[in-house]
Amino acid sequence: MRHRIAVIGGGPAGLTFARVLHRHGHPVTVLERDPARDARPPGGTLDLHEKLGQLALDKAGLLAEFQALSRPEGQAMRILDADGTVLRDWQPRPDDRANPEIDRGQLRDLLLGPLDVQWGRDVTEVVPGTRDGVLVRFADGRQETFDLVIGADGAWSRVRPAISSVTPHYTGVTLVETFLDDVDTRHPDLARLIGDGSMAVYGVNRALVAQRNSGGHVKVYAQFRAPLDWHTNLDRHMGLNRRAGLDLADGEAVRSSLLALFDGWAAPVLDLLHHGTAFVHRPLYVLPVSHTWAHVPGVTLLGDAAHLMPPLGAGANLAMLEGAELAESVAAAPDPGDLDEAVRAFEEQMWARAGRWAEITTAGLERLVSPDPTEAIALFDEVQSS
Ligand SMILES: Cc1cc2nc3c(=O)[nH]c(=O)nc-3n(C[C@H](O)[C@H](O)[C@H](O)COP(=O)(O)OP(=O)(O)OC[C@H]3O[C@@H](n4cnc5c(N)ncnc54)[C@H](O)[C@@H]3O)c2cc1C
Repeated sequence: MRHRIAVIGGGPAGLTFARVLHRHGHPVTVLERDPARDARPPGGTLDLHEKLGQLALDKAGLLAEFQALSRPEGQAMRILDADGTVLRDWQPRPDDRANPEIDRGQLRDLLLGPLDVQWGRDVTEVVPGTRDGVLVRFADGRQETFDLVIGADGAWSRVRPAISSVTPHYTGVTLVETFLDDVDTRHPDLARLIGDGSMAVYGVNRALVAQRNSGGHVKVYAQFRAPLDWHTNLDRHMGLNRRAGLDLADGEAVRSSLLALFDGWAAPVLDLLHHGTAFVHRPLYVLPVSHTWAHVPGVTLLGDAAHLMPPLGAGANLAMLEGAELAESVAAAPDPGDLDEAVRAFEEQMWARAGRWAEITTAGLERLVSPDPTEAIALFDEVQSS
């Protein structure tokens, strides 16, 4: 029997789930809110771990294509002092394939392949246990029913309320993201400073991180500990001696506030902010470290919808592996009773692994954006020597 299966969200979790299920010859409906494939910039670079994201791509039959596209040299990591002194400079071995980088857009296109995604399907609510199955409601007033609905719709999931009352909370750390294009030709000094992978500078409760993407594109993240409403009173909340609040839509005002926040740091490092284009405000939210729920037949969650955690290189990897594993379990479940048991077993496995990573990344964020900048360097030393 063919189950009617819908996955809500076409991010790393949803697309990996759909692609692996497709490989097993099972139909799946992918419902994505974005109106079109290229409706918004796809985001920065992702490092895919051998035993997580790469394993998922292997299950999707896409590992060789990933290896051709990815950037092993992107595993390079450099840490500078605020005065510009190089403190650490790790270069990957030529054969190191542990965590190569890939642009999010490239990964999305790789996963999309033959999938028939329904774009512009904005889910507002999921109601389990109706006579005809699980009801999905959309913003345009339409509704459909399925046997199994997978919530892969990210941090602010509209599927999650059907099975859990938990909502994300603010970590106390905010990112402001900007970018530079054609860095090798337009900013060769910065290109050399950043190297082939990532470069980071850690200060007291703040950091500047630059990550090279493909094609000379660099993403820059200013990170700092601050109240959620830090921008409403820069003097009181940030000690910046500026009376007025900050209009986050005013790029030049954001740039100048960030330059004040990182005042005294070496000029070449601050060039990352001087040359940045567009500033996007990203307060970091998380779900509780061990988020679980009482199993509800017909509905489950994957990826950030299930276990939003600090962005320390695990979220997309877990999302993809969960997508692949759930698809394999579903494909191996011929009747409705088996399907529910397969989902239940999958949830137990996901919770255990995600809980471990949530602990690691939560502790990691405390050390990376900390009152003692040497903590961040110690963390990298530990990771590099493990
Ligand atoms: C700055 C930053 C850097 C990061 N770096 C890394 C990294 O290097 N490595 C790593 O592993 N992780 C990284 N992460 C984490 C990673 O981005 C997420 O964990 C990952 O994207 C989660 O995938 P997902 O598919 O669960 O959710 P998402 O990527 O959020 O995808 C959810 C999808 O659902 C769609 N959607 C949302 N609501 C609806 C709705 N109501 N109806 C229909 N569709 C909907 C969205 O449009 C989106 O396409 C980083 C995160 C950040 C913020």
